[in-house]
Amino acid sequence: MREMYQNLGISDAVLDFGLKVEAELKERFDGLDEVAEYNQLKVIAAMQKHRVSAECFQSTSGYGYGDLGRDTLEEVYATCFKGEAALVRPQITCGTHALALALMSNVRPGDEILSPVGKPYDTLEEVIGIRPSKGSLAEYGVTYAQVDLLPDGEFDFDGIKKAINERTKLVTIQRSKGYASRPTLSVDRIGQLISFIKGIKPDVICMVDNCYGEFVEKKEPLEVGADMIVGSLIKNLGGGLAPIGGYIVGTKECVENAAYRLTSPGLGKEVGASLGIIQSFYQGLFMAPTVVNSALKTAIFAANIYETLGFDVVPNKTESRHDIIQAITFGTPEGLCAFCEGIQAAAPVDSYVTPEPWDMPGYDSKVIMAAGAFVQGSSIELSADGPLREPYTAFFQGGLTWYHGKLGILKSLQKLYDRNLVNNI
Ligand SMILES: *Cc1c(COP(=O)(O)O)cnc(C)c1O
Repeated sequence: MREMYQNLGISDAVLDFGLKVEAELKERFDGLDEVAEYNQLKVIAAMQKHRVSAECFQSTSGYGYGDLGRDTLEEVYATCFKGEAALVRPQITCGTHALALALMSNVRPGDEILSPVGKPYDTLEEVIGIRPSKGSLAEYGVTYAQVDLLPDGEFDFDGIKKAINERTKLVTIQRSKGYASRPTLSVDRIGQLISFIKGIKPDVICMVDNCYGEFVEKKEPLEVGADMIVGSLIKNLGGGLAPIGGYIVGTKECVENAAYRLTSPGLGKEVGASLGIIQSFYQGLFMAPTVVNSALKTAIFAANIYETLGFDVVPNKTESRHDIIQAITFGTPEGLCAFCEGIQAAAPVDSYVTPEPWDMPGYDSKVIMAAGAFVQGSSIELSADGPLREPYTAFFQGGLTWYHGKLGILKSLQKLYDRNLVNNI
């Protein structure tokens, strides 16, 4: 084994340090395995209930009327995540698109959207119009209000109560921290927030941006009162196999609104050919519980490595996990870039290229990204990114297999070690 690691450029010092850290994580990993087992059974039960069959994998083209695979998959999603209906489509191009669709279809001019958990994910600033943008909700006369979390990470219940008014139509709750440094919300905390909000205004739509959170816990947000959960299929639920796609699961009303916006008023869910990729959506969902399990092991391993070496990590090495993202603060651009280079160098695809910071659309500073992925931009595959701004934090996530994740983290550490950016190994 040691020789295999050596062949991949991992020195004895780095490997020994890594193995020592891993040895202490056994109990933690057993807990993760239990969640994965539970979610695996959930997926299988949903597929059996809706009689998934070989016919479901057939391709349709054109309008896609009566696409059995598409319609059955949406029933599987609805059952699995405890919604009344679902929209799961290759025509939803990414997570931002799914979120934009869910928002734009469920509000009307004059309505207000409230985020009670601080600033949303960068790309949503343009969807909402927090940063002026063509086609934003602001251009259509939809206003936005925001209440930040308190400095200790708690909800600002007084502030939220004051912010809810007669125009508040939809509340958007981001489960994962994204590029912020706040803690990620557990499903239970999301539930507390939703009951508080519905206690004040029962008919408000509570939407959860579920990106990166799926299958991390046994429960999902619809089970604690959310009306809609929204996410990307090149993250957790695509299991690394879906080549594109997004999903919305929730109440019949919310999902129908989204379908009429995605296709056309009058057509809704009835059209949308699956173009031969629906099998990867099924198989990806089937794989997702164990893929998320690998990603979580990788994140926890990294937190334990880098916290031990004196870096700031969120979540820290013992905290419970509510999404698959790990933030590591390097404090210097050299540290951030070395980390990303290591992740890239460990990849099965494009391992020989060096990632460079670039001006990525939708982001307001340069971003460095490492991804050697089978699906371009897929962030359920081991990938790292970080905006090139203080305090030089790398956000990383994924790992389709734990063994690849482990190699990636060791390789990142090797890069820092070789450049004298870490000591006390
Ligand atoms: C990734 C992500 C998005 C946007 O998804 P894309 O597929 O990158 O457009 C939105 N919200 C959160 C919390 C995310 O992690």
